[in-house]
Amino acid sequence: MDTLTALTHLECSLCKQNFERGKVHNLCPCGGPLLVRYDLARIRQQWSREQLKTAPNTMWRYAPVLPVTCHASIVSLGEGMTPLVRTPRLGGRLGAQQLWVKDEGLNPTGSFKARGLSCAVSMAVELGIRKLAIPSAGNAASAMAAYAAAAGLEAHIFMPRDVPQANFVECKAYGARVTLVDGLISDCARMVAAGAEKEGWFDVTTLKEPYRIEGKKTMGYELAEQMNWELPDALFYPTGGGVGIIGMWKAFAEMEALGWIGPKRPKMIAVQVEGCQPVVRAFQQGDARSTVWQNAYTVASGLRVPKPLGDFLILDAVRSSGGTAIAVSDTELLDAGIRLASEEGLFIAPEGAACVSALEKLLANGFLKSNEKIVIYNTGAGLKYLEAYSTRFPRSAAGEQDKLGGLITPR
Ligand SMILES: *Cc1c(COP(=O)(O)O)cnc(C)c1O
Ligand SMILES: [Zn+2]
Repeated sequence: MDTLTALTHLECSLCKQNFERGKVHNLCPCGGPLLVRYDLARIRQQWSREQLKTAPNTMWRYAPVLPVTCHASIVSLGEGMTPLVRTPRLGGRLGAQQLWVKDEGLNPTGSFKARGLSCAVSMAVELGIRKLAIPSAGNAASAMAAYAAAAGLEAHIFMPRDVPQANFVECKAYGARVTLVDGLISDCARMVAAGAEKEGWFDVTTLKEPYRIEGKKTMGYELAEQMNWELPDALFYPTGGGVGIIGMWKAFAEMEALGWIGPKRPKMIAVQVEGCQPVVRAFQQGDARSTVWQNAYTVASGLRVPKPLGDFLILDAVRSSGGTAIAVSDTELLDAGIRLASEEGLFIAPEGAACVSALEKLLANGFLKSNEKIVIYNTGAGLKYLEAYSTRFPRSAAGEQDKLGGLITPR
């Protein structure tokens, strides 16, 4: 087999229209995101879980269910195969006997966005696209800038002016053309769409670009592999655009078709923040789609998405898995993040920390039981959010002794 992938075509998630492989695509004309489809029956004959033992130690170990056709197109910086860390002290305090954190903060550029952009940029290389543009709340921009640099492609980035400093500096360092926008990610998206039309940039907006989700779904394959092909009872995911949830839900279905897992699914728990919770509101109201969350605000910048394009896919996964959607406050999530760091040695992103706080609530109200197997996705590194966490650790004035820690005098 000279082609890596079993990709057959793309399919609109709304109207089910099919689209040809090997062509440049964004959304379906009906507005629906396109999902990549594979000949799973065929690869089931040719590819087994055992072959993973000798596969590369990156997300590209799952190449047959990724869209890239030839090895030469793959742009990799070592993304994926992040640790699944058992967290007994956190579990002990909250009353969860079997608790893990999947630490996506260890990916290149410090977030799980690396998976999506490794896949998207690889496909851009394969399809001959030279100029990429993206609107981003932060981490997607960093990841795109890094992979575009690795591939030698042009990267145009639009992000809100108040994006975390780390994201801005990274993008500049990677050589991307950065525009800071006085507005939200939705305003950035409009500017990218305009540039795509005028300058011929390829729009890499979440779900408008069909392959980022394919990279992100590898979080689901990895989880199954790391848990010895038995999925947990509940899975917490910090939900902005929801691509991680949609991707993992797709991965579970694909793995079942491959005969790798059974029909059991984890309760999919979408975690949002008080200042931006369109999915939680739609879930509670029993709606199939969300509506725009006005004046969105949170320190968990990846969760500041006022209306996710794939809302109906997120809500479907949450509902059909028997999961739920829940919001926590910025104060709660920062507290949870700092407590986790001191208990377990994991300094996680505010988005991941929101899941820790949500877990506490769902154990306290009985939605989850103490003997259930629970996995929290930490989507990014705490180090990328020094502005947010610094508010909790004001430094004493120069020369003044730290009342708690004391001052160490060099000998
Ligand atoms: C983008 C991002 C999210 C939201 O991801 P989706 O899969 O689009 O919901 C969560 N956490 C971090 C750190 C992010 O960068
Ligand atoms: Zn359609």
